[in-house]
Amino acid sequence: MVVKKLLLSFPQGSAGEPVAMELIKTYNLDFNILKAFIDDNIKGTLLLEVRGENENIDNGMTFLREHQVGVREIESVIEVNHDECVDCGACTAVCAVDALEMDSDFNLIHHEDKCLECMQCVQACPMRAIRALI
Ligand code: SF4
Ligand code: SF4
Repeated sequence: MVVKKLLLSFPQGSAGEPVAMELIKTYNLDFNILKAFIDDNIKGTLLLEVRGENENIDNGMTFLREHQVGVREIESVIEVNHDECVDCGACTAVCAVDALEMDSDFNLIHHEDKCLECMQCVQACPMRAIRALI
C-alpha cells in the first residue's frame, strides 16, 4: 500500500465529469481531496492524496490520461525554479515548518515531504522563483 499525491488537470468543460470518482471505484483506491480549483475558462484542477496498491495507482493514472485528464505525481504543490533562485533566503523566513532552508553553503533546499502547502513562500520570493502548481 502506498500514498501518492496526484495533480489532475481537467480540460475545459469537463470539470464536472465524475471521472475522478470512477477512478477511485474502479481501481480500489482511497483518497482525500487536498485542493480543488476551477478557473475562469472552466478548466479544473484537483489535488488528490491517493492510497492504494502501486499497480492500481499506475493503472488509474493511465485511465485518467485515456480520458484526456492530465495527471502528474507530485511531492509538493510548490516548485522552486533553481535557475531563477538567487539563494537570498527570504522564503525560509516565512516557512513555519522549515520545508525551505539554506544549507551550509547558503544554497536553498526544499524538503518536499515537510511542506504544508500554505503558499506563503510564493509571495515572499522577490525573484518569483517559486511557483504554485495549484
Ligand atoms: S508552501 Fe508553506 S510550508 Fe510549503 S515550503 Fe512554502 S512556506 Fe513552507
Ligand atoms: S526567496 Fe526566492 S530567490 Fe530567495 S531563496 Fe527563496 S526561492 Fe530563492
